[in-house]
Amino acid sequence: MIEENLKNLFKEIPEYNPFGEKVTIVGAVKFQTAESINRAVRAGLTDIGDNHVQEFREKFDLIEGSPRRHFIGHLQTNKVKYLIGKTYLYHSVDRTGLAEEISKRSLNAGVESDILLQVNIGSELSKGGFAPEEIERACEQIKKLPALRIRGLMAMLPLTDDEALLGALAGRMRAEYDKIKTYDENFTYLSMGMSGDWRICLQEGANMLRLGTCIFGHRNYN
Ligand SMILES: *Cc1c(COP(=O)(O)O)cnc(C)c1O
Repeated sequence: MIEENLKNLFKEIPEYNPFGEKVTIVGAVKFQTAESINRAVRAGLTDIGDNHVQEFREKFDLIEGSPRRHFIGHLQTNKVKYLIGKTYLYHSVDRTGLAEEISKRSLNAGVESDILLQVNIGSELSKGGFAPEEIERACEQIKKLPALRIRGLMAMLPLTDDEALLGALAGRMRAEYDKIKTYDENFTYLSMGMSGDWRICLQEGANMLRLGTCIFGHRNYN
């Protein structure tokens, strides 16, 4: 099933999105066994993303084939230390204090860390992230921190069937990303799109999709 799902995704997701960019699939692996993750990697999944630091640590050495490791979930400041030097990209930097901690720990460890700023594009009370109108100022501030590079933006769209709304919000994300990309050469990734909305996100210019259910099937939370 995992192999079949990935094959279909690789077929359906064109190598180039409407914006002419390479599209990266990050497998959202929360609650998946190392065995399932390894199957996906063998079937061609190059990038995987964790939500929980404990899961990330428990499974770290069980993952075969050296996929790039992303962190995509809400991250507590006191757990950053466990991820330093092992994470290709932190997607969910949703506050300045978190960026400061990643910077400090990276500097101490002698590594550079790549991050995305999370944007609360739907202005939802239940979600973290910078407000769209705050992004540029936050970028300027965070860019000054050592051992850190901002590589782009990340968003989670609201849970709704309203495709017009989803398209508008995803389009606004691309516009914000493009605005900063014109003067910041580090900007490379726009991470948005989950199993329910990735087609809309791809159409609007996402170039990094975080997919769980449509690769692994429904999660078993036990
Ligand atoms: C779980 C998760 C995903 C993937 O969700 P699916 O709907 O299963 O594709 C993407 N992004 C984040 C931050 C997640 O926690």
